[in-house]
Amino acid sequence: MAPSSERELRAELLRISHLCYERHLLVALDGNLSVRLPGGLVLCTQAGCHKGLLVDDELVVIDLEGKRVRGAGAPTSEMAMHLACYRSRPDVGAVIHAHPPLCIAFTLAGRSLARCVLPEVVLTLGTVPTLAYATTGTELLAARVGEAMLRHDAVMLDRHGAVCAGRSLREAFCRLETMEHMAAIMQAAHTLGAVRELPCDEAVKLRTLGLERYGGPPAAVARARQPGADLPPACLTCAGCEHAPSAADTAFAAPVAAAAPRSAGRVPAAPTSAPPGLAPQGLDGEVAAAVRRVLGGG
Ligand SMILES: [Zn+2]
Repeated sequence: MAPSSERELRAELLRISHLCYERHLLVALDGNLSVRLPGGLVLCTQAGCHKGLLVDDELVVIDLEGKRVRGAGAPTSEMAMHLACYRSRPDVGAVIHAHPPLCIAFTLAGRSLARCVLPEVVLTLGTVPTLAYATTGTELLAARVGEAMLRHDAVMLDRHGAVCAGRSLREAFCRLETMEHMAAIMQAAHTLGAVRELPCDEAVKLRTLGLERYGGPPAAVARARQPGADLPPACLTCAGCEHAPSAADTAFAAPVAAAAPRSAGRVPAAPTSAPPGLAPQGLDGEVAAAVRRVLGGG
């Protein structure tokens, strides 16, 4: 049975926090975890605690405005990102912010994780966008996370870390672990050669299946059977290319491409006016047009 009482949720939060540390998804005092309690308050980690050694006394109960209701210590300023997720998504029951090293390395190198390469990831997560850099703990960053979570269950923060939401702590943790595993596989594949995308029609088929089977953001689930499902238009212009970067990768990497040219055999990134790190998000018309182009529907 899934934990549901405050006592069970406190124990689950400690367990998942320790797992985050043991799986090298954060170190030292990094990161923070939270879970919605019955009644609408939020249980979270206090500022400045070690997630590998976390104990019950280091948990704080806050309201949706971030005001402390019970417990010692103060909630971290990064809790604003968690609260933005809860406000955006009534279906979200838990949020984890961590610093998975390989995912962060991808953002430093200007490589996008918003690519349709691994079927399991497309099924369960869709694409993971990287949000443009903003100072940690600011309202600006929290607002960006809250907005992006309307369409995604997990996002990367440029140069910083991951924010993963779920119906439960376990689901949020699975998403975090999946992202880092994907980054490890992509890094290994990069050392062997070009990373090949899934063919567009297969990516769309998997995503529709995943949204229907496993759920996701309500806005994405509502798009499950629309052209392209919830995949960004950039992903729909890549039909399993072997050597060229995907359009999503190109859009992401453009700001750093001039300083660090791509390796031989890869197409140079085209200039873009998109903010660094922001994968373009779909308008219905754009998505439909991209799907028609790729699938040859005119
Ligand atoms: Zn952080």
